[in-house]
Amino acid sequence: MSEASRPKNVVVLGSTGSIGESSLKVARDLPGRMRLVGLAANRSAESLAAQINEFGIKEGCLFDPTGLDQVRAKVSGNVALHSGEEGLVALATLPEADLVLIAIVGVAGLKPALAAIEAGKDIAVASKEILVMAGETVMSAARRKGVKVLPVDSEHNAIFQCLEGRSPDQVSRLILTASGGPFRTLPAADLSGVTVERALKHPTWEMGKKITIDSATLFNKGLEMIEARWLFDIGMDRVDVIVHPQSIVHSMVEFVDGSVLAQLSTTDMCFPIQYAVTWPERVSNRLPPLDFAALARLDFEAPRWDDFPALRLAKEAGSTGGTLPAVLNAANEIAVSAFLEGHLSFPGIWNTVERTMALHRTATHPSLEEIIEADRWARETAASQLTRT
Ligand code: MG
Repeated sequence: MSEASRPKNVVVLGSTGSIGESSLKVARDLPGRMRLVGLAANRSAESLAAQINEFGIKEGCLFDPTGLDQVRAKVSGNVALHSGEEGLVALATLPEADLVLIAIVGVAGLKPALAAIEAGKDIAVASKEILVMAGETVMSAARRKGVKVLPVDSEHNAIFQCLEGRSPDQVSRLILTASGGPFRTLPAADLSGVTVERALKHPTWEMGKKITIDSATLFNKGLEMIEARWLFDIGMDRVDVIVHPQSIVHSMVEFVDGSVLAQLSTTDMCFPIQYAVTWPERVSNRLPPLDFAALARLDFEAPRWDDFPALRLAKEAGSTGGTLPAVLNAANEIAVSAFLEGHLSFPGIWNTVERTMALHRTATHPSLEEIIEADRWARETAASQLTRT
């Protein structure tokens, strides 16, 4: 049997989250291309057990060990069940796995990602933290081991498709598109009155809570700028953002000859997930095609750099590099949780991040330990800054 005709054996870390659910949809749609061999969830014992049973999975992991008995009681057949960080690493390094899709929110995906690379697996990255916090480390490890880092985020997947392996010196700009979030047209003076409920209503994408708030503040785009810088080995000064409310053009690449390539599709995460799994091939599916006549128009506008400081902060973190992106990321996580719990105003999110970044002493070319320490420091520092907003 040739390589291309054998389904790829895929492990999904974060299988019960929104990206995880979409990746299972792709697996259902393309059984001849994608075979799930391991699934890991954080706390959703019932959903994980149901997924394990549906796909006949032999290796599962529930990060929170307290729910493990609940999973065990529900799964049928002989299933090895793991928990905690060791469990995620065990799944990320399963001998039969070809590709490890990492869709865990937060820092927890970092060690499994590096373990997968060391074990010679390609990784598909949906967790922003991996490349934001440790982009330099992850990409150099991947180069050393000769494995691929495939982007699942719609913007980076679009750029990956437009680049088709071209070298960075042929690129003049990466242009990330941003929906602009629910407050794209809200006057700056009204941002302080934004409620949790309003911030959770995203105009185009159905996503988890953390990422929905991040797209309202534009921190999501800021984190993506940093990710793009590392994924494609492009200086931060060549990573640009354009607001595109319809979210149909998922991102673009401007080449040195002035030509721009864009990737378009309907707004469904199954598109980028499928491309990461079937790459370098394209295969047909049951996803809805684009109807240009129905769309009629695509709009573009400049981002509001002054009203949404997240972009500027991310640009600063990405240009400085070292431990600063990890600090931005961790401070933002703390601030978003505080906002969701009603302890912080909407602008308080970026104010907290900015103050935490200002207090940080950046270490250059950090080790993994230094990155994790910077993350810990930033969480503690950001928490101590919350009350001041
Ligand atoms: Mg995105």
